Amino acid sequence: MNKTGIKQGLRAMGLKKGDIVLLHSSLSSIGKVEGGAAAVIEAFLETLGKTGTLVVPVFGSLGILTDTVKRRLDAVVSDCPKGTVAAVGADARKICTDHWRADTVHGEGSPYLKIAGLGGYICLLGVDQDRNTTMHSVEAMLGLPYLNPVSDAVQTPQGTVRKTWQYYPGPHRDFIGLDKLLRARGKMKTGKIGSAVTRLIKSRDLIEILTEAGRRDPAFCLCNNPECADCAAQRAAIFRAVMSKEDFKLSASAALAGRYIPEIIENLQRSGIGYVELDFIQGKPAHLMPAEKLQLAVREFAGNNIFVSGLRLPGVPADIQKILQLAKGCGIERLVMPLFADAVNLVKQAVKEKIALSFCNCGVTGDYAAAIMKDLAEQKIRAGFTFSPAGFARCGEMPFLQTYRNGKFRKYMDQLDIEDGTFAGIQTAPAGGNGEIKELVSILRCAGFSGFMTLSAGNRLCGNVIKIAADFRKLLEEI
Ligand SMILES: [Zn+2]
Repeated sequence: MNKTGIKQGLRAMGLKKGDIVLLHSSLSSIGKVEGGAAAVIEAFLETLGKTGTLVVPVFGSLGILTDTVKRRLDAVVSDCPKGTVAAVGADARKICTDHWRADTVHGEGSPYLKIAGLGGYICLLGVDQDRNTTMHSVEAMLGLPYLNPVSDAVQTPQGTVRKTWQYYPGPHRDFIGLDKLLRARGKMKTGKIGSAVTRLIKSRDLIEILTEAGRRDPAFCLCNNPECADCAAQRAAIFRAVMSKEDFKLSASAALAGRYIPEIIENLQRSGIGYVELDFIQGKPAHLMPAEKLQLAVREFAGNNIFVSGLRLPGVPADIQKILQLAKGCGIERLVMPLFADAVNLVKQAVKEKIALSFCNCGVTGDYAAAIMKDLAEQKIRAGFTFSPAGFARCGEMPFLQTYRNGKFRKYMDQLDIEDGTFAGIQTAPAGGNGEIKELVSILRCAGFSGFMTLSAGNRLCGNVIKIAADFRKLLEEI
């Protein structure tokens, strides 16, 4: 390959005099080039002419091509220590100036957005979308929740200034997976220069196509490999941001999340869940743990920003005082237990200790549960209701169309157990059985329900907390 051949290749791709090109490249991909890096850069500059501009990123480890541009006497280097570019040509100064003043390294006011605004191209010469810095522009402009601020010292005419830029990109993202989207929209030209596969797209088109994709799905840059801890953490950040806009609070059963505390914490964090229901820890009912141990567990959760939505009892306790004292000592403010007749006395004791009680339907019909809750309300005794759709389905009821509506449960409810099952009592994934979970979640959201939606232990037959949280996330997206 030589300069003339490269120029022919660039013109065949559609580049002409006056164009602006942001070049990401690998010299070695082209094959052997007569005149080396200098010949490649000259080929670009001669194709773009005096009125055109060549821009290259000069952060991270520099390739020989970028280094060749940066070292030119006529090169302008942007004045930002992050996402720095070097440019040669008519618009070099316009593109590079005041980069450090931008609020984000890659967003509005950065060279990347200026190139888009000026109608410039992005050229990937022998490299893939993983090297395409303008991807970060799209992420920054969308303000994606997994991006973090970054700080650095900047040399300015007024001296050294410490500056923070918002929405700085993090670890792994699946940019190469976005190539097919750009190809499908027909805006990207692909060709070959030497042996280098070369892609050319208008920066504006890339930003438009990917911004649209990002608005539909904020995880559009993330990979689906469950073993990729980076993308799992970034997905969790997106989910936390979604959850922070909901009125309800998402909790998960400790038993669903894992066996040991560190495992439970890790899985809840990976799922973006901020509340835990203490039912079983290490295979034992949490309320039978020694007080000091339970106290330590609660503290360890809190230290990791996971708070207890309730202590769940598998049955009605014989000695409620003992459990109320245990909860109080551990800073647990709420108990969940099966609903039973004559609950009045028990609730009165709990109220005295300032512990909230919530009764769950286990093997009882909607009419039976509604009668007990109504009775408590008439006696002005405050108790919550934990609605288990799987529980009502097992009784042959339609939990939304029939039970929820007829029993007027909304006014007592402080928890919806996200657990589904068939009329035959077979546990299924959320919204995969007769529990009418989707309808219940939707109507509660419409009513600004501020209680807990809890991914309950019943889901264990259908997967771990990460899988069930993903099911629930999908369910929310479908409403
Ligand atoms: Zn990944």
